[in-house]
Amino acid sequence: KLELTDAKKWINLFVEKLEANKSELNELDTAIGDGDHGTNMDRGAQAVTEALGKKEPENLTDLYKTTAFAMIQKVGGASGPLYGTAFLDMSKAVKEDNLELSDLIQIGTDGIKRRGQSDVGMKTMIDIWQPVTEALKANKLNQQVIDAALNNVKELVATKGRASYLEEKSKGHIDPGAQSSAYLFESLIEVIG
Ligand code: ADP
Ligand code: MG
Ligand code: MG
Repeated sequence: KLELTDAKKWINLFVEKLEANKSELNELDTAIGDGDHGTNMDRGAQAVTEALGKKEPENLTDLYKTTAFAMIQKVGGASGPLYGTAFLDMSKAVKEDNLELSDLIQIGTDGIKRRGQSDVGMKTMIDIWQPVTEALKANKLNQQVIDAALNNVKELVATKGRASYLEEKSKGHIDPGAQSSAYLFESLIEVIG
């Protein structure tokens, strides 16, 4: 279970990585999309920092809800509502006692699938969220899990989102949303060790 102090560290690290890797995410999106994923996520990152700075979250629900709203309002594009839904669903789920971290991430993953009408294998952020969920369930989330998931994403043909317009040509590229989600879970690994 992830407690408030660690969850705050998690979100702060994620925000830092998004800001530091803005151009890399834009470049990935230039190859198979419209080139704005880094700019979108960076805008969201700044909004999250601002919102959390304005009012210190008192519990996990506050933290995840504030994160969700900042992303929904500021990221835009396809990814804003998807990250927003994941964090909003997670903010509701943490009201339950004894929610395991793997359950929390499963709930976020399910939220993205529902909102995006998507599933694994479509070359999206889900291809990171789902394997991370499985690894957490097996108690073996580490950097290799993320690297393997990114490698797998690279070889997939996109069937959802803008990259799907490229069909076969989307192969050989890392999906930008998968990369930003990789930052999210690399941040989590840094916190839970
Ligand atoms: P846009 O495509 O509107 O410019 P972004 O560039 O910010 O939005 O985000 C693109 C990312 O969103 C993709 O790389 C992919 O991971 C994710 N994505 C797009 N559509 C879906 C979907 N239906 N389900 C899951 N993820 C999606
Ligand atoms: Mg884009
Ligand atoms: Mg766009």
